Amino acid sequence: MAGIPANLQAVHASIVAAARSAGRDPAGIRLLAVSKTFGPEAVLEAAAAGQAAFGENYLQEALDKMAAVAACRPALALEWHFIGPIQSNKTRPIAAHFDWIHSVDREKVAQRLSQQRPDGMPALNVCLQVNISGEASKSGVAPEEAPALARAVSMLPRLRLRGLMAIPEPAADPASQREPFARLRRLYESLRAEGLALDTLSMGMSADLAAAIAEGSTMVRIGTAIFGHRYYGQ
Ligand SMILES: *Cc1c(COP(=O)(O)O)cnc(C)c1O
Repeated sequence: MAGIPANLQAVHASIVAAARSAGRDPAGIRLLAVSKTFGPEAVLEAAAAGQAAFGENYLQEALDKMAAVAACRPALALEWHFIGPIQSNKTRPIAAHFDWIHSVDREKVAQRLSQQRPDGMPALNVCLQVNISGEASKSGVAPEEAPALARAVSMLPRLRLRGLMAIPEPAADPASQREPFARLRRLYESLRAEGLALDTLSMGMSADLAAAIAEGSTMVRIGTAIFGHRYYGQ
C-alpha cells in the first residue's frame, strides 16, 4: 500500500466521487479514521496530513495511544470516537476520554455515561448502534426498539444524541450493500420527523463506503483503506 497521506487522499477522492454520483455535497460527509491496532505513530502521521478525527474499538489500547500521542504532540487537538462494544464496567474511562461514542445500544450504558461524563467537559456525542442486519452475534439495539432508546437517551443531561450507527453484514453486490443502509436512513428520518435533533448517520467502512454515501451517510468510518490491513495477536 502507499503511505498514510496518499491513502487519505485516495479516500477523500472516493468520498467526493461517491457524493457526486449520489448528487450530494461532499462537505456533508465526515471522515473518521479508524486507527485500531495501529500505533501512535500512525495517528501522528495521519494527523500531520490533516486528519483530526480518530476511531478506536478497544479501550485500553485507545487510552495508551491517546497518552502517547499527547506526550509527543501536547498541542495537537484530536477528536476521539469510541466505536467498539461497550462493557458497562468500562463506561467511566470512556466518558472521560472520548468526544463521541457510536456504539450505545442500551439505556443502562447511556445512563452511566451521562452520570460519569466529567463536569466541565461538553456533552458527550452519542450515536445509537442499530443491529440493522438482525444478526444474533452482532451488538446493537433492534431496529424496532431504537425509537424508545433514542427518546430515553435524548433526555440524559450529559449526552447529546447525534444519530445512528450500523455495521451491516457483508453483501455480495452493490444493490444488496445499499439495502441495510437504506433501512438505517429510514429509521433516522423517522426519528427526525418525531422531533429528535439528529444530524449524524455513521455508516460505511472501507468496503462499502460508496453504498453508504449513496444512502445518506454523514460519517464514514475507514480503517483499512487508510492504515492498511490489521494483524491481530502480534
Ligand atoms: C474496524 C471498524 C471500522 C473500519 O473498518 P475497515 O473495514 O477497516 O474500514 C469501522 N467501524 C467499526 C465499528 C469498526 O470496528
